[in-house]
Amino acid sequence: CGIVGYIGGEQAAPILLDGLSKLEYRGYDSAGLAVFDGKNINIAKTRGRLKNLSDLTNEGTNLNGTLGIGHTRWATHGIPSDTNAHPHFNADESIVVVHNGIIENYVKIKKQLQSKGYEFKSETDTEVVALLLDYYYNGNPLETIEKVLTKLEGSYALGMIFKDYSDEFYAVRKDSPLIVGESQNGKFIASDVPAILKYSRDVYFIENEEIVKLTRDHITFYNMDLEEIKKETTSINWDI
Ligand code: GLU
Repeated sequence: CGIVGYIGGEQAAPILLDGLSKLEYRGYDSAGLAVFDGKNINIAKTRGRLKNLSDLTNEGTNLNGTLGIGHTRWATHGIPSDTNAHPHFNADESIVVVHNGIIENYVKIKKQLQSKGYEFKSETDTEVVALLLDYYYNGNPLETIEKVLTKLEGSYALGMIFKDYSDEFYAVRKDSPLIVGESQNGKFIASDVPAILKYSRDVYFIENEEIVKLTRDHITFYNMDLEEIKKETTSINWDI
C-alpha cells in the first residue's frame, strides 16, 4: 500500500527498496520494482515481505538503471500473488504502472478492452490502467494520461514510465496520498514523506487530479486541462 519513484544520477533500485521499507507501516502483501535501463524496462515482483524482493534483486543490484518505480501492495482485487503484484505492464512492455487505491469501474473497462482484443495477465483492477494507457497512447504521455483519467472512477495514486521517454516519468493522484521531493541527486515520488526523508526535505504535497512530470532536472505540475501550475515546497524539519 505504498508507491515510490526515482529519477536522477544514481541507481534507482536500492533507493526504491529503501523508500519502500519506510512505507512498511502502511501494510502490504507483495512488493515490486520496475527499473528502466534506457533500453528496456525490467520488472522484479514477488508476493511476501520486502526481504523477498530484496533477495530476488540482490538488494537491487541486478536491476540496472537510474529511473524506476516501486510498490508495496495491499490486495483489494485479486489474491496476493507474484502475478498480481505491481508493477503492471501494457502488452508490449513499453508502459509500466504502479497503483495504490481501487479502480471502481474496472470490470466495465476490462470488458471493453477485452472486446478490443486485449488480454489480461492479472486479476487486479490496476491492469486496466496499464492497458487503457496502451489503448490511448498517442506518443504524448501527458495527453494519454489525461485521457485515461477521464475513464477511471475510484481512488488512485499512480506512477508511470513510458519506454519512449527514458528521461522522465509521471505521477498523479486522486483520493490516495502522493508527495514529490527533490534533492541534488534526483527527483522522487512517494506515498508519504518518510520514504524520501533520507534524500530530500523539500516536499510538494500533490492535490487531487494534479499530474506530475519528473525529469532528472525538473518537476512540472499540470492540472487536468494540462495547463502548467505552480506549487511551493514545504520544508520538512522533523526526523524519523
Ligand atoms: N487495487 C490494487 C490491487 O489490488 C492496488 C492495491 C494497493 O493499494 O496496494 O492490486
